[in-house]
Amino acid sequence: MVRDAEITDVQTCVVNGNFDWTLVRVYTDAGIVGIGEAILGERVADIAADTIELLRGENPLNVSRLTELLYRRLSYTGGNAGGVTAAISGVEIALFDLTGKLLEIPIHQLLGGKFREDVCVYVDSHAGAHLRSAELNDESVFSPTAYADAAEAVVEDGFDAMKFDLDAAEQFQEDVWNRHLNTHAVSQKANIVKAVTERVGDQADVAFDCHWSYGTDSAIRLARSIEDYDVWFLEDPCPPENAVVPAAVTTATETPICTGESLYRASGFLELITSQSVDIVQPDPPKCGGLRETRRIAELADLYEIPLALHNVASPIGTLACVHVAAACSNFLALEYHAREVEWWGDLIGGNPIDGKAIPVPDAPGLGVDLDLDVVESHLSDGETLFDEM
Ligand code: MG
Repeated sequence: MVRDAEITDVQTCVVNGNFDWTLVRVYTDAGIVGIGEAILGERVADIAADTIELLRGENPLNVSRLTELLYRRLSYTGGNAGGVTAAISGVEIALFDLTGKLLEIPIHQLLGGKFREDVCVYVDSHAGAHLRSAELNDESVFSPTAYADAAEAVVEDGFDAMKFDLDAAEQFQEDVWNRHLNTHAVSQKANIVKAVTERVGDQADVAFDCHWSYGTDSAIRLARSIEDYDVWFLEDPCPPENAVVPAAVTTATETPICTGESLYRASGFLELITSQSVDIVQPDPPKCGGLRETRRIAELADLYEIPLALHNVASPIGTLACVHVAAACSNFLALEYHAREVEWWGDLIGGNPIDGKAIPVPDAPGLGVDLDLDVVESHLSDGETLFDEM
């Protein structure tokens, strides 16, 4: 156990996965390195690396104080939202990993311990031409049968929860700018929901994502049109920034409404939760502010008996960070797995952490996994250089 380490460097590598995976390493004079991840690319990586100017010489065990320092010193340039908050999220996760390694305990223990031994995942299964069962011609990629076939393939792979994009077929909308769904577009989407839910029956929970595409009236009509089917949740049918909009949708339908991946920090969720404008909250830990902010969002939601889903498009590093905070939150529901089609995803940590339909919560120190730098090097984004070894 080491109690008096000092931070010596912060380095980043952007890995070219199905998203830009921004990996962060925080180095110490104790020869122990912490690993974290932030969402989305080089600009975020630069911001994360620059935090060394505020962290050099600090004791990494003071995770909350150091993270708060970054928020406050970077508040003018985005410490409460956007790329700066994403960058701080990656550094914060690395500080938690580092603290766990220095104290020789897993991150979930630093968050109060675990409610569960396994964290269940749901498979993001995309839409249209990106459906996994996609030996499909252009005319059939958005057919209800194509979605149902893809859903069946997910179940055959052993999963019991999944999500499809329901907003992908813009050709069914007459005008995407006015956020309006005409009757034909609503029917087209309802037919997809019907085909998928009837195909999987009670073998899987199925959610549908709309990426904030629709106005209040269209979102309500869409949500009502799928009430007869067994929908797990409808994600982001409308923009969430003005809480009265999702509130109107949520109160007008029996379909559970979920939102949160576009919001930052606990303050970004405050009105949404206290006004009970959604049925499920869905922060993205390597984006929304890190594990402490995710925990604050979860506890705020828990006061209203609102469950927590975690949005996630990360490498296994960010995903394992989600696993630790998910284990530590009583109201956790499910964690997104967005990389089923990336065959080398698990190789970054020496093997896919998913066992069946869940990820066992690691008990090794910190995140409980190590980064395979050879795999990182073989998938670096253009212009990126590998981390220093130590
Ligand atoms: Mg989404």
